[in-house]
Amino acid sequence: VKEIFESMEYGTAPESAAEALAWLVDQGDRFGHFIDGAFTDPQDGFDSRNPATGEVLAKLSQATQSDVDAAVAAARKAQPKWAKLGGHGRAKVLYALARLLQKHARLFAVLETLDNGKPIRESRDIDIPLAQRHFYYHAGMAQLMDSELPDREALGVCGQIIPWNFPLLMLAWKVAPALAMGNTVVLKPAEYTSLTALLFADISRQAGLPAGVLNIVTGDGAVGEMITAADVDKIAFTGSTEVGRKIRAATAGSGKALTLELGGKSPYIVFDDADLDSAVEGLVDAIWFNQGQVCCAGSRLLVQEPVADTFYAKLTARMDKLRVGDPLDKSIDVGAVVDPVQLRTITQMVDANTEGTRHVAACDVPEGCYYPPTLIRDLSPADALMQEEIFGPVLVSTTFRTPSEAVEIANNSRYGLAATVWTENVNLALDIAPKLAAGVVWVNATNLFDAAAGFGGVRESGFGREGGWEGLTAYTRPKTKAKPIKDTAPFTGNGAPEP
Ligand code: NAD
Repeated sequence: VKEIFESMEYGTAPESAAEALAWLVDQGDRFGHFIDGAFTDPQDGFDSRNPATGEVLAKLSQATQSDVDAAVAAARKAQPKWAKLGGHGRAKVLYALARLLQKHARLFAVLETLDNGKPIRESRDIDIPLAQRHFYYHAGMAQLMDSELPDREALGVCGQIIPWNFPLLMLAWKVAPALAMGNTVVLKPAEYTSLTALLFADISRQAGLPAGVLNIVTGDGAVGEMITAADVDKIAFTGSTEVGRKIRAATAGSGKALTLELGGKSPYIVFDDADLDSAVEGLVDAIWFNQGQVCCAGSRLLVQEPVADTFYAKLTARMDKLRVGDPLDKSIDVGAVVDPVQLRTITQMVDANTEGTRHVAACDVPEGCYYPPTLIRDLSPADALMQEEIFGPVLVSTTFRTPSEAVEIANNSRYGLAATVWTENVNLALDIAPKLAAGVVWVNATNLFDAAAGFGGVRESGFGREGGWEGLTAYTRPKTKAKPIKDTAPFTGNGAPEP
């Protein structure tokens, strides 16, 4: 096996970008918006770059007010017919979308990696399969809607604004439930990563999605503001807490439904009886998955004192083996940071900190938009790096003595998205989990996502859930249907209906 393995150079070949680049070339490398079932002519806008190389992948259009108005008008016009199609009719289209995502999985994965910088292994094995799963699940839920949710109806037109860290997956989290429940959509992808959304728009026509049901406009935050102010019935936003707060203020009193999925600084708690090797592997996933650009990243490590030295030794040894480099290389663990702007933010935050003990992974780091996996330990819970979201491959850490101290430090945060508890003592885990201020708690695991499970936060991590039953009903409103009871048989004296 060793010989075969060595002769094959297994896992070191870069994934071919040919198909994704051919699709971009086919589109003329320039994109308009997707409105009412067709792409508009490209207009002035901005470049979409590959963060790993700095090369321009495509030129995108910055939506104007009239583009947003046209998208909302198309969605408004299409909505009654789409809702009337019924759950089974919509399910057919959603199943077709899921199958097309499956059919073109490789193209989507490579395009995502080119645009975002995430390792191909992650886009191929996590992002795209989870996006497919979301459409399959919601196709099933659309089918059930008529029987399971007879007293609910669609909201109407939904404005959806998504971030750049999981571009296609965030689209799936938003679009699949909205369409399943009979809504129509105007979606804005993040300005760094719009390409898989445009590819999705392109393939949606093959799935038989009627014109106007899905509209995609590209551009920066100003376009997000236009969508927020537009005549829509709901805003679903995923992004920073700062922008979430602005959107909440802008929609207050407007009657628009709102869900916010915002930032996090999730604790990762390792107790002294934990399987330390597994906990180290869990951490690799918790903080170095997607270069740490994950809202629920286990970015705040809390270790119980008796095992702290052993754990840090195992962790730093593992960090030194991480491979940072070309995101298209299948053997890479950590790819490129999404954009030089984000790289600057991470660097400035880390460099402004003078506290703690820093360990930078000993691996080679290419020139360019890359940041090395970093651990900063011996911090105090109040230090800025323990409180602020870095949104990069930087793990910060402190120690604790007792379970109650672990809970206290874990909850010492303005955020409350996720938490991980690592222990072999199930009673301890079950005692701790409910005490943690977090929308989701993982025990001896991390980053477990499923379309059937609601995901979302508490405190400044937002409100509302995506996925599962809660996520589904957030795209509906209750409707009480009542009619006068006529033609009922008169009652006889003893209460029984007359024969
Ligand atoms: P961001 O808030 O800057 O941008 C998110 C989206 O909002 C982008 O499409 C952007 O163009 C748009 N936007 C910017 N300003 C706007 C405005 N004033 N009005 C309307 N839209 C506006 O966030 P980001 O840097 O793209 O993403 C990183 C943040 O997202 C992190 O804080 C992360 O934790 C959070 N995030 C949360 C989740 C979750 O599910 N909770 C998931 C992914 C990312």
